[in-house]
Amino acid sequence: VRKTGFTLAPEAGSDRLRSVINKGITEEDLLENARAVYSAGWRLIKLYFMIGLPTETMEDVERIVEISREVKRQGKWAGSGGDVNVSVSSFVPKPHTPFQWEPQISEEEIVEKQRYLRPALKKKKLIMKWQDASLSGLEGVFARGDRRLSRLLIEAHRLGCRFDGWWEHFDRSKWGEAFENTGIEPTFYHRRRELDEPLPWDHIDCGVRREFLLAEREAALAGAPTPDCRAGECTGCGVCDFEEIKLRLNEPVPFGTFACQPPPQEASELAQKIRIRFEKLGRMRYLSHLEMLTLFIRAVGRARIPMRYSQGFHPHPKFSFATALSVGIESHAEYMDMEVDSGFSAQALKEALNATLPEGVRVLEAEIVPIKSPALSVIMERVRYRVTLPESLAVELPAKVAAFLALESSPLRREKKGKVVEFDLRHQLSELSADGCVLEMLVGRGKPVEFASAILGLPADAFKDARLEKLEVLFAPAPEELPVAC
Ligand code: SF4
Repeated sequence: VRKTGFTLAPEAGSDRLRSVINKGITEEDLLENARAVYSAGWRLIKLYFMIGLPTETMEDVERIVEISREVKRQGKWAGSGGDVNVSVSSFVPKPHTPFQWEPQISEEEIVEKQRYLRPALKKKKLIMKWQDASLSGLEGVFARGDRRLSRLLIEAHRLGCRFDGWWEHFDRSKWGEAFENTGIEPTFYHRRRELDEPLPWDHIDCGVRREFLLAEREAALAGAPTPDCRAGECTGCGVCDFEEIKLRLNEPVPFGTFACQPPPQEASELAQKIRIRFEKLGRMRYLSHLEMLTLFIRAVGRARIPMRYSQGFHPHPKFSFATALSVGIESHAEYMDMEVDSGFSAQALKEALNATLPEGVRVLEAEIVPIKSPALSVIMERVRYRVTLPESLAVELPAKVAAFLALESSPLRREKKGKVVEFDLRHQLSELSADGCVLEMLVGRGKPVEFASAILGLPADAFKDARLEKLEVLFAPAPEELPVAC
């Protein structure tokens, strides 16, 4: 793994405030760690801070600038001329924590502190990242919210709010309108809670006792640290019953090693490529291409398959899919190439994977192919699909199929992420037949729903109850690259 950014999270600028939040690290610890990180070859340290922590004063905020500059200096002393990125988020009190009764600072105060920090850090040649104050305000409302907020949520959705956690989608004016329309006041949720006030989450037992949280709050406000029970005595938070639930600590991992690391790469001639065909059925049809990628990354790890890994910032097991299957389509013919250490048989790979894959995904075939064989996406030519229609849509199906086959052209225009793609469905169709409620087609480019839609003259969403299956993939013949039998 290349040494990109190393993250350290002091959370607060001063030792005093770090004691309040029981962070357990001093400025000295932080600088020592920064020196060690720069000396070990990292050039960039990312520092995470929060503003608005309980008892915070402007002095604590100013200390963020000073301590960040000190961290940068450690890079110079370590001889690597280190960079520092400073990320500053706003503190949001959370339920089931000692600060669940504390107020959240107002959006105006957040902005004021950000306005102080931005130029002050820039002057020291430090790059600052921060979170939008309105987004923190909204987070604070929902973090300690109650059932009344469901009205707000529905209203915001009605007004068009979506994916609000991504700043580019966050529309503060729509949320403002939603608050106004529902008569909900954000400051009601940001306010200090009385210690004897019933809290909306009181009925949820997460194991930690209320008395413990109150005592912790008192200790925090007095700046008295609570020792970490992994290294010291139990402070009786209430999570453990010391029979079934108790601390289970792993042996410390020696410095410089990793608990989980990809095996070292060997010469490429020691690798081999195994091509698999697998099915994706039932509920698995709702997994996206990226989710399938994650599923296989986890499966090869669990199955302890000796995968080859890519080089670069984040090594990944080397496998490549033939195509990205659209969500909602079941498949009996998904193909993937995997690079593994030579000597690992195709049969062993099939068995190991099938022992760990979830229900609905199963490897049907596995065979060794030449390591330099062309990518599946290059040699893929045609795909056979089956569309099983609900009876209500299958009216006069043979006649509609005949009419479509008689067409010379059936242009399709597809728009995705602002890009327009145009091609002719009729030219992409090699075979088409109808049997009862079932359409079967062999196609080049195009999705089964696009063909069904053109054949039946119905919009795509009319097929939401149809069953879509990928039956077979036809590849271009490559006689010189016939698979080696396993
Ligand atoms: S040992 Fe268990 S009960 Fe004691 S402080 Fe730690 S987590 Fe809480």
